Amino acid sequence: MAEVKKNEEPRIGVFVCHCGTNIAGSVNIQEVKDYAASLPNVVVSNDYQYMCSTPGQNMIVEAIKEHNLSGVVVAACSPRLHEPTFRNATKTGGLNPFRFEMANIREQNSWVHMHQPEEATKKAKDAIRIAVAKASLLQDLHPKSVPVEKAAMVVGAGVGGMQAALDLANAGIKTYLVEKTPTIGGRMSQLDKTFPTLDCSQCILTPKMVDVYRNENIELLTYTEVEGVEGYIGNFDVTLRKKARGVLTPDEAEARGIVGGGCNGCGDCVDVCPVIKPNPFELGMAPRKAIYIYHPQVVPLIYTIDFDSCVKCGLCVDACGDKKAIDLEMQDELMTVKVGTVILATGYDIFPIEKKPEWGYKNYDNVITSLEFERLICASGPTGGKLIRPSDGATPKRVGFVLCAGSRDNTGVGRPYCSRFCCMYSLKHAHQIIEKIPGAVPYIFYMDIRSFGKMYEEFYYRIQDEGAKFIRGRVANILEDPETKNLYIKAEDTLLGRPVDVEVDMVVLAAAVQPSAETERTRRLFGVSCSQDGWLLEAHPKLNPCGTTTAGVYLAGVCQGPKDIPDTVAQAEGAASAASIPIHKGAVELEPYFAQCIEEKCAGCGLCVNLCPYQALSLVEKNGRKVMQVTEAKCKGCGTCGGFCPGGAIWMQHFATPQIIAQIDAFLLGGEE
Ligand code: FAD
Ligand code: SF4
Ligand code: SF4
Ligand code: SF4
Ligand code: SF4
Ligand code: SF4
Ligand code: SF4
Repeated sequence: MAEVKKNEEPRIGVFVCHCGTNIAGSVNIQEVKDYAASLPNVVVSNDYQYMCSTPGQNMIVEAIKEHNLSGVVVAACSPRLHEPTFRNATKTGGLNPFRFEMANIREQNSWVHMHQPEEATKKAKDAIRIAVAKASLLQDLHPKSVPVEKAAMVVGAGVGGMQAALDLANAGIKTYLVEKTPTIGGRMSQLDKTFPTLDCSQCILTPKMVDVYRNENIELLTYTEVEGVEGYIGNFDVTLRKKARGVLTPDEAEARGIVGGGCNGCGDCVDVCPVIKPNPFELGMAPRKAIYIYHPQVVPLIYTIDFDSCVKCGLCVDACGDKKAIDLEMQDELMTVKVGTVILATGYDIFPIEKKPEWGYKNYDNVITSLEFERLICASGPTGGKLIRPSDGATPKRVGFVLCAGSRDNTGVGRPYCSRFCCMYSLKHAHQIIEKIPGAVPYIFYMDIRSFGKMYEEFYYRIQDEGAKFIRGRVANILEDPETKNLYIKAEDTLLGRPVDVEVDMVVLAAAVQPSAETERTRRLFGVSCSQDGWLLEAHPKLNPCGTTTAGVYLAGVCQGPKDIPDTVAQAEGAASAASIPIHKGAVELEPYFAQCIEEKCAGCGLCVNLCPYQALSLVEKNGRKVMQVTEAKCKGCGTCGGFCPGGAIWMQHFATPQIIAQIDAFLLGGEE
C-alpha cells in the first residue's frame, strides 16, 4: 500500500439541506451556501429543501457530471441516517462512493441551537469548512467482499430467542441456540396466564419449545454459555462452555458406548438425593434436590446436577441403574462453532426491589413481587395455584398492587424507564384474584395506566367493570401490623387530592425489570453497545431496531428494552429476517476503513500487535525483514494502532492522519474570526 497523496486538483461540490424548517429554521442557508462557495477547492455550492429526496439526490448526480467533481459534501443530518443515501448518489454520479463527506448541521447544530440563529449559522459554516478540507483529500476506497458461513447463533432461549431460532431454521439455516440455564422457555414459562387474552402461558409456549427441540436445523445447547468471540460478520468463531451437567443425554450415552442408556427423565434419582435446595425457577418458594429439573415441562427433559450443592454420595448413580446416565466426574467442555450472524436474546431479570425499603419487600412476609404472584397463582406452582399469604397460609381477600415499583424512578435507586408490561400484567393479576377468590378486592395503586397494545384498553375497562379499585398515586410507604401481619398502604390519591391509608392482607409489587445478569459480559464479547440503563443498543431506534452497530449481530426481545410477548416475538421475527439476509446472500461487503501498513516506514517493532483489540495485526517476514501485516477482514478500523505507531507506519483508510490534520487546521485556522 503506497502512501496516498493529496488529489491533484480537488473539485468539491457542497450541498446544503434545509430539512424543511428543521435546519432552515435556525441556520441561514443562503449565507452558509455563499460561504461554502468561497472555500478553497469548492467549485459548486447549492442548497435544497430535502437533499435526501429524489430531486435532491439528482442534484448531486448532475453536479458531479457537470462540474467534474472529485468530492461531495452534504451538509444535512447525522451520517447515521443518510450517509448510505448520499454515498449511493455519489456513486451514481460516477465517483467512488467514499469520495463523500457529511457535515452534520441538524442533530449537532440546528436542533441544539434552535434559538441561536447566528451561532447556528456560524457553526454550520465551521462544519462545512472542516468537511471540505477532508473531502479534498479523500481517496477511492473499495469494500472487501467476504464469504458468509451458512449458520447462525441465537444467544438466549426465551420466547424471543426460540422464535428467532425457529425462523432461521425454517429458512434452511443451521442455527445454534445457546441457553445458559438447563431448559429453554425463559421467563414466559414462569407465567400463569397472559394478557389480554388470558391464554395459559405454558400451553402456548410448550408447543414452541417442542418445535425447537425437534427442528433438525436447530442445535440446542442448553446449560451453555458464550466464552469467547472472534471474527466478524460472516465469520464469527464463537467459543462455548458446555457446563458439566453430570447427566448424559441418550446421544451422549450412546457416544460412550452405553447402549439404550442416558437420561429418560424418570426422576428415580430425585427420590434418593438427600440434598435439598431452593428452586430458583419457583423463586425459592419450593424446594429442589441437588439433581433436578426446573419444572415438569422442561425441554430437553434431562436432569442436571447442581455440583455446588451435590455431596457426591452416589445414591443417584445407584438409582439410575442400567441407564448409566449419571457421571459425577463430568467436566465443563469447550467447543468452538463458526457462524455467519448472531442474534442476542438474553432477556431480563427482576430489579431487586428490596433496594426500595419503603415497601417492605423481604421485611414483611406478605409483600411479594409480581413474578412470585405468577408462581403462586399458577396451577403448576408451589401452592398448586392457591394464592396464599406467606405469613399464615390464609387466602387474601384484600390485595394491594403497587405499580411502577422501582420503575419511572429518578431517585437514583430505581430505574428511570417504564418497564412497559407491568400495568397490563397487574390488571391481569387483579382479574385473576377476582376470578379465583370470591369477594376478593384488588386495590391498584398506579401513576397512569399504560394499556397501549391491541385490545389492551378494552382489557383495562373489563377489569374496572369487574370491580377492581383504582387509586391514582405513588405509594409512599407500607407498614405492617406485627400481630395480624396485615399491611397498611400509604399513598396520596392524586385524583381526590387527599392522603389514603388502605389496609390489605397482601401486597404485590410490580417490580421494575433490568437487563439479565450475564448481558453485560455477553454484549462485551460481541462488541455490542448498551444504552445508559444497560439495555442493548439497537443500530437505529426507528430505522434499524433489530440491528446493532456491530455488523452481523442483531437483537431480539427484552434485552433491547422492556416489551411484552407480542412485541418480543415480532422483533425476534425481524431479527431472524435481518440475520438471514447476509447468509442467503452468501457474501458481505466490509466497510473499507481498514488500517494499512506503510511497509517502508514500519520498523517491525511489533509493539502494535497486542494493542489491537481484534487480533488483526501480525508481524510477517518480507524481503528479509519483519513488517506488520493487517488482516483486513478482522480490522474494525478502531484506529488504536494508527494513533500509537511511533513511526507513523499505520495508515487509517478514510481517517488518515493528513485528512484529520486538514480538518483540525480547517477548524483552528480557517474560521472567519
Ligand atoms: P426472557 O424470557 O428473559 O428469555 C431470555 C433467555 O435468555 C432466558 O432463558 C435466559 O436464561 C437466557 N439468557 C440470558 N442471558 C444469557 C446468556 N448470556 N447466555 C445464554 N442464555 C442467556 N408479557 C405478555 O405479553 N403477557 C403477559 O401476561 C406477561 N406477564 C408478565 C408477568 C410478569 C410478572 C413479568 C415479569 C413479565 C410478564 N410479561 C408478559 C413479559 C414477558 O415475560 C416478556 O415479554 C418475555 O418473557 C420476553 O421474552 P425474552 O425472550 O425477550 O426474554
Ligand atoms: Fe432532513 Fe437529512 Fe433528509 Fe436533509 S437529508 S431532508 S436533513 S433527513
Ligand atoms: Fe435420568 Fe437416571 Fe435420573 Fe432417571 S434416574 S431421571 S434416567 S438421571
Ligand atoms: Fe444428590 Fe449428588 Fe448424592 Fe446424586 S451424588 S444423590 S446429586 S447429592
Ligand atoms: Fe409503571 Fe405501568 Fe410503566 Fe410498569 S408499565 S412502569 S406499572 S407505567
Ligand atoms: Fe510497525 Fe508501527 Fe507496528 Fe511497530 S508499531 S510494528 S513500526 S506498524
Ligand atoms: Fe486493530 Fe488497528 Fe484495525 Fe484497530 S485499526 S482493529 S487496532 S488493526
